[in-house]
Amino acid sequence: MMKDMEKRLNKIFDETTEEELSLFKKAAEIIKAEGLVAFPTETVYGLGANALNENAVKKIYEAKGRPSDNPLILHVSGIEMAESLVHINETAKLLMNKFWPGPLSLVLKAKDIIPLSTRGGLSTAAIRMPDNRIALEIIRISNLPIAAPSANKSGRPSPTDAKTVRDDIGDSVELVIDGGKTLVGLESTVLDITGENPILLRPGAISKEEIEAVLNVTVLFSQDENIIKRSPGVRYRHYAPNIPLMLSDVENASKYASGKKWAWIGISEPKGTPNIKIIFLNTNEYAKELFRVLREIETTKVEVIIAEKPEQKGIGLALTDRLIKAAGN
Ligand code: AMP
Ligand code: MG
Repeated sequence: MMKDMEKRLNKIFDETTEEELSLFKKAAEIIKAEGLVAFPTETVYGLGANALNENAVKKIYEAKGRPSDNPLILHVSGIEMAESLVHINETAKLLMNKFWPGPLSLVLKAKDIIPLSTRGGLSTAAIRMPDNRIALEIIRISNLPIAAPSANKSGRPSPTDAKTVRDDIGDSVELVIDGGKTLVGLESTVLDITGENPILLRPGAISKEEIEAVLNVTVLFSQDENIIKRSPGVRYRHYAPNIPLMLSDVENASKYASGKKWAWIGISEPKGTPNIKIIFLNTNEYAKELFRVLREIETTKVEVIIAEKPEQKGIGLALTDRLIKAAGN
């Protein structure tokens, strides 16, 4: 492992109190015994299980109602653990050194140790090192890679706090660890680096531009059928609130509402008078709060959510991706 990463991790782990340590040990025991634990990462809450154990992984798919061909991301506590799972190339090394721990999942050729059920039957697997002390501690203590998709029922908005996890899938997990609200609020960037040019399979907090700056090559991002086929999860309906959602600019907001009770979410004041108005400080806050706010609006009498189309740069691209999916397009 890189020396500076090691130092940083030691500093992170120093913060863990005795009381927390016993909780994390309990979580690790559950993981080792094929059980499920929900825990925070910096992106959203994850539903974790031993990624190397088919029985454990099966429980994730059952709890979420997730299609079995939608592969899971393996969460690791460092580069050595990653090396035991996938074939690491030069591109991977550069990206890991720059962005790990962080919200970047890398798709690489899988080693046989990863069961096919974890990787949806594919020859590749996605791995990432989360930038969250609790997540890292559980992986480190269990000394196992943890498969952890978002801790929600398949198709629902991802949970960004522990209460939402309990409400959604609390019955299926042995332990939910509360680490407060997640920092990013959107799932990780997924990047396939098995071919000549990296392919962005899912936008996230680590942007295409940041990746290109490190690699000095063009990152492909396309809605092209062939690319969509490579990331099975992208096909399925996602992040969907129970109320219809539409993207709009400020000018047309009330027009889209067309007389229905409407909620506005965005960073600007809309034209017209929404029944509920949620204005975020900036695009980062919009991303961070989106999933929570969608679930909150569901509990009201609003009939349609009109969401401001974010700026098309940085986290705005990932946010737009989630909003388009929430709109069912
Ligand atoms: P989630 O667990 O809900 O964050 O979803 C994981 C995402 O990573 C899905 O969009 C998957 O399709 C994608 N993914 C995981 N493993 C692979 C893989 N081996 N190849 C392509 N995409 C993957
Ligand atoms: Mg998910």
